[in-house]
Amino acid sequence: MMIIARPDHNISRNSISPHALKVLYRLKNAGYEAYLVGGGVRDVLLGKQPKDFDIATNAHPEDVSRVFRNCRLIGRRFRLAHVYFGREIIEVATFRGSGNDDGLRETNQEGRILHDNVYGTLEEDAERRDFTINALYYNISDFSIVDFSTGYQDIADAQLRLIGDPETRFREDPVRMIRAIRFAAKLDFIIEDQCVEPIKTLGGLLLDVPPARMFDEVLKLFLHGHALASFHLLREYKLYDYLFPASKDNIDEDPQLRAFLEKAMRNTDVRVNAGKPVTPAFLFAVFLWAGAKQVATGKTEHLGSWIESIQLACDATVKQQQKHTAIPKRVIHPMREIWTMQPRFFQRTGKRPLRLLSHPKFRAGYDFFLLRSQVGEVDPEVAKWWTDLQVASEAEQRKMVAPKHTQRKKKAKPKSESTAPEEHDD
Ligand code: ATP
Ligand code: MG
Repeated sequence: MMIIARPDHNISRNSISPHALKVLYRLKNAGYEAYLVGGGVRDVLLGKQPKDFDIATNAHPEDVSRVFRNCRLIGRRFRLAHVYFGREIIEVATFRGSGNDDGLRETNQEGRILHDNVYGTLEEDAERRDFTINALYYNISDFSIVDFSTGYQDIADAQLRLIGDPETRFREDPVRMIRAIRFAAKLDFIIEDQCVEPIKTLGGLLLDVPPARMFDEVLKLFLHGHALASFHLLREYKLYDYLFPASKDNIDEDPQLRAFLEKAMRNTDVRVNAGKPVTPAFLFAVFLWAGAKQVATGKTEHLGSWIESIQLACDATVKQQQKHTAIPKRVIHPMREIWTMQPRFFQRTGKRPLRLLSHPKFRAGYDFFLLRSQVGEVDPEVAKWWTDLQVASEAEQRKMVAPKHTQRKKKAKPKSESTAPEEHDD
């Protein structure tokens, strides 16, 4: 174990959330050990703004709830205390033990941990964390950092190193493979050599992770401002197909699909880094589009209607994907709207275009259409028409949607969406 004393590291209390400090001090004053751990320590050491602050303590959850009135005990896999300060939540976890020796830890055939609810010591708690850089403890009693492995050095070396034997740790919890990608992308760290082969061969284990957890992790992977880097790493480590089985086209052989996904990732990063919202629905619409599109075009002839076929495709794709990532209804509905809106962009005359313009989800649908046009999936001229329509004056808009206009533009029908009817006045 190594202790880095206060004068030898750069974590100052100014860089820690005042609420997290309050929780640390209160636990300490109540006689407990209290440490800041995880991303809160890691990111401050790297000079980055932590996303949230996690605290580890020897106080049991019930003890924590006695110390804080603004506290709620939660727990899916493990009981945790959430301490609320307005919108900020400080997560307080009791040291967890390995439970290895006493048979308290239950694993499945592949080695995945099913139950893991054993309290332990600080050292045991450190051992069961995922990466060395996530297992640094900032001690509120003397402001030192406690390091049981090589985390402090690995931060300096930009190394992402798993604690313990990589294959065992990935089997225990396959989500750690996705986390490896996330941290490598976000921090621009190098994934240690010993991790590379296990990730490339164990990806299939992700198919058995509970879908609700997968949904959360997948979202985190693309919403931290480094979605493009995450996407590239996922493909390099052969994990991408396991995240989106409903859409597993061979991206390698489909440059258009690759360009579509890359552009979407780049746009997502630009938005996130500018502090603009990115909706999970848009992201899932992007990731599952390849699957939905296939089903849709396959059924077009039978059903006659493009919109109807997209709806069926949506249902089929979502149903398949739900086995892997539990997409909540609040995400499915807008995603469905983004997709079903796509054929409607080809209706450029009569009342329909202006009606579409005032659709509450128009912006998302249009952004999606724009993305498709940028990779040549639909005619860029049609996309431009919609771009123009949005900024046109009322008089200009009326002119744009007048039938004669369409007559002229009709020649430029897109290749790939020839099945979409270019409809006229209603
Ligand atoms: P960020 O919050 O910036 O995404 P983080 O490292 O804080 O990164 P969290 O998901 O908040 O990640 O988890 C907090 C800490 O809990 C991690 O730093 C790690 O020590 C531990 N942890 C989280 N998930 C796992 C896991 N699957 N296996 C082992 N330890 C984990
Ligand atoms: Mg965190």
